[in-house]
Amino acid sequence: MSPRPDPPEVDRVAASKAAVAARRARAAVKQDVSSRRRTALDVATTAWNDTETPEGGLRVRELLTSIPGLGPARADRTLERLGISPRKRLGGLGVRQRERLGEFLEARDTPAPARLTVLAGPTAVGKGTVSGYIREHYPDVLLSVSATTRKPRPGEIDGVHYYFVSDEEFDRKIANNELLEWAVVHNSYRYGTPRPPIDAALAAGRRVLLEIDLQGARSVRRAMPDALLVFLLPPTWEELVRRLTGRGTEDAEEQQRRLDTARVELAAQNEFDARVVNTEVSEAAREVVELMDAPVSARTYSPMAPPERAATPPIEEH
Ligand code: 5GP
Repeated sequence: MSPRPDPPEVDRVAASKAAVAARRARAAVKQDVSSRRRTALDVATTAWNDTETPEGGLRVRELLTSIPGLGPARADRTLERLGISPRKRLGGLGVRQRERLGEFLEARDTPAPARLTVLAGPTAVGKGTVSGYIREHYPDVLLSVSATTRKPRPGEIDGVHYYFVSDEEFDRKIANNELLEWAVVHNSYRYGTPRPPIDAALAAGRRVLLEIDLQGARSVRRAMPDALLVFLLPPTWEELVRRLTGRGTEDAEEQQRRLDTARVELAAQNEFDARVVNTEVSEAAREVVELMDAPVSARTYSPMAPPERAATPPIEEH
């Protein structure tokens, strides 16, 4: 067979112009998804109705990474779970792959009902730092401000970090049924979640985050079975000890008491809906907010940290 002749120059120019136009059209589709002008499901449906459209030529991975809040790592995990190669284009997916991707996108597009999320975890794991980061960087999430009978630490502001109240005031709140839950933490002070701001925020469709201890998380589960319970883990037990002793705000006896509590608390992680490892604060905060954002049905896909991380919790003690 004689080799195929090169296409004439005019054809090559036309083809390269067409390729540039197609790339631009795909970029516009991605832009529409990332700015929420179109849903990813709408793009996929268009692609499957006509595979010759720009949507049909879009790689699935590019579609996923255009979805607000879905980063490259999560996109790759999703593709793996759905059994789709990262190089596949929407138009080239098989029937089963289309079904699985369609279900995933539909669940993702359905806004989650406003829901209460509880962030708990062992003492000194960094719950306060992660929730503080969320307060600063995700202002649409209402971070509940607890009432406590303990005294403020340096830098803590009444009404921002806690409502610092007397024992009598705390008794009054309990009597008036103003607390969603309350507990004595570390055998010393009382901490409680004021109910009215939470009821109001949920009714207004706002997401609410509670950063409370394990007893509190269990009480919330009983009071509100729909709440999402997230457990924050330290990267290792040694790191937890380092963080606890490094804080230097408690005396040795208090530190020992908190370590004892932490040991018991770590053992409770399996009661939770999801676990997040606090290696890096901004990343842990992002994961928590992503979990809050995920529609209920999508949470069953991957509510937890990736298996290799969720499996590493560090309960080994030395
Ligand atoms: P800290 O005194 O270090 O601020 O907090 C001590 C512990 O109290 C932390 O584990 C924190 O999660 C928990 N805590 C804070 N607010 C509440 C609350 O409203 N209810 C419960 N049950 N625990 C809380």
